[in-house]
Amino acid sequence: MLSLSNFHNFSTGHLEVISGPMFSGKTEELIRRVRRAQIARVKVQVFRPSIDNRYNDKDVVSHSSQSIEAIPVKNSNDIWHRIKDSTRIVAIDEVQFFDNEIIKVVTKLTNRGHRLICAGLDLDYRAKPFGPMPALLAMADEIVKVHAICTICGGIATRSQRVVNSKAQLLVGATEAYEARCRAHFEYSETETEEDRQEQELLNVTTENANPTNNSLQIN
Ligand code: ADP
Ligand code: MG
Repeated sequence: MLSLSNFHNFSTGHLEVISGPMFSGKTEELIRRVRRAQIARVKVQVFRPSIDNRYNDKDVVSHSSQSIEAIPVKNSNDIWHRIKDSTRIVAIDEVQFFDNEIIKVVTKLTNRGHRLICAGLDLDYRAKPFGPMPALLAMADEIVKVHAICTICGGIATRSQRVVNSKAQLLVGATEAYEARCRAHFEYSETETEEDRQEQELLNVTTENANPTNNSLQIN
């Protein structure tokens, strides 16, 4: 299949979004693209949100233990300020964890002529669109939807099933808390009790307060 990303010498900016559920190979695909760029001796900077503390501080690591050096950042503006003059390609893993400012940062970088490679969850554990992902997917020049394998039936998994009891949209550092599931085997009750609603409101407030720059992570 002809893919725009096979060409690295774009004269204009270019946005590639890799999305899908957990365990679908988003990070592997990001690493693959970054390595190809490095082989072509194109200067790449890789970023990831520092909130994702599953692995060591300096790397992006896939579930299959592939890794690549990355810069952990607290918020999207940090990415903007850390771009070096020589950087041609900007890769961002777990992009769904960033605040909505990431949409502006990605737009500015693309307009400035950078190639952007963003990988992130399209849906949260409720199968609802995750944070800035709908906007990034809409703005993308190229979208790659990757799939995992359903842990129940071995079919194509497009959903991330939370297998522990928590209502926070952000539950990182706990891959054992999720399983890849197909549509048929994904379970989430849409009916929200008053208790659920109150708990969600509390979580929103807690997360906003936790971020002094007000680049709060959206929980909705
Ligand atoms: P993502 O970034 O989308 O969470 P990764 O790139 O980190 O995914 O990891 C993908 C790898 O996860 C696969 O190559 C495979 O080795 C492993 N894996 C573990 N569970 C599954 C699953 N249910 N379906 C597919 N791959 C899985
Ligand atoms: Mg990943």
